[in-house]
Amino acid sequence: MSAHTQNAQNTSKSSVTVIGLGPMGRALASAFLAAGVATTVWNRTPGRDRELVARGAADAATPEEAVAASDLTVVCVVDYAAADSILQRPEVTAALKGRTVANLSADTPDRAREAATWAAEHGVRYLDGAIMTPTTTIGTPHGVFLYSGSRELYGEHKPVLDALSGTHSHLGEEIGRAAAFDLALLDIWWTSMTGYMHALAIARAEGITAQELAPFAKGIGAILPPSFDEAAAEVDNGTYAATVNPLTSAASTMAHIVHVSEAHGIDASLMRAAEGLARRAIGLGHGGDELHRLAELMGRNG
Ligand code: NDP
Repeated sequence: MSAHTQNAQNTSKSSVTVIGLGPMGRALASAFLAAGVATTVWNRTPGRDRELVARGAADAATPEEAVAASDLTVVCVVDYAAADSILQRPEVTAALKGRTVANLSADTPDRAREAATWAAEHGVRYLDGAIMTPTTTIGTPHGVFLYSGSRELYGEHKPVLDALSGTHSHLGEEIGRAAAFDLALLDIWWTSMTGYMHALAIARAEGITAQELAPFAKGIGAILPPSFDEAAAEVDNGTYAATVNPLTSAASTMAHIVHVSEAHGIDASLMRAAEGLARRAIGLGHGGDELHRLAELMGRNG
């Protein structure tokens, strides 16, 4: 049997339902279709499935019809309130009994735990998940997917989920873990990118174009990965001994950024918050430590 025939036979056995056809839901459904997975779709607002249906997706008239079409339903809507408003309709819940939901919508770990409790109470098998990369990566090796929940259940549906290509990581049986990883990682993304926007505002006020700054900004980005490893080791060990760039020096640089912002009438609230944290740590006697000390300080609630 050729590899091609083998593949066709495997994928013909697999099917999936995708609920939610925003940009991400459409990307997921599109990748499933491209991989040869029989795909049924449903979205609250009709019409978003036109292109998918033209490519062979089955369009369900109702969400209960959609979930009844496959053993696995992937949900990808704006948040868990939206997911609940679909899945917790009595007719949908009834149709889901004994089937699996993999909720890839973003929300908090507690919302994931509540969803899992609801699922257990209604005989719905439940996996939680998060997508860490943009729509353009879905169906390519660059997609990153996180999952939590029963390892056995994940293993059962892995062949279909893997059809999305990319890297798939099961992070543990505790259902909130995927959402917790998601939010911690998005914290890095949003604070970093907001910092970059602030940097561009300063650069522009000083007559530097964003494109002039970009190559140097990438240099700063390249320093981050090893810094993440160094910080991780110190924060996990609770030891902050190695001091290459002490907080006293960091706070002084932060103050310069606040001053140049204020001189140009640029909102400095982001850097003022960072400087405030650094000064608080210094006040507590940690001025000789690296910035890593702030992870402990912020976790202390005051
Ligand atoms: P949105 O986050 O805007 O979600 C749009 C989807 O949610 C649509 O299907 C929309 O339906 C549905 N929806 C919104 N409110 C409700 C409601 N009250 N009841 C039912 N359905 C509702 O766009 P995305 O598709 O981009 O994102 C989906 C999820 O994927 C989000 O959790 C997002 O954080 C996550 N994600 C997205 C990424 C991206 O690059 N876009 C990257 C990584 C994760 P309707 O069409 O009817 O409005």
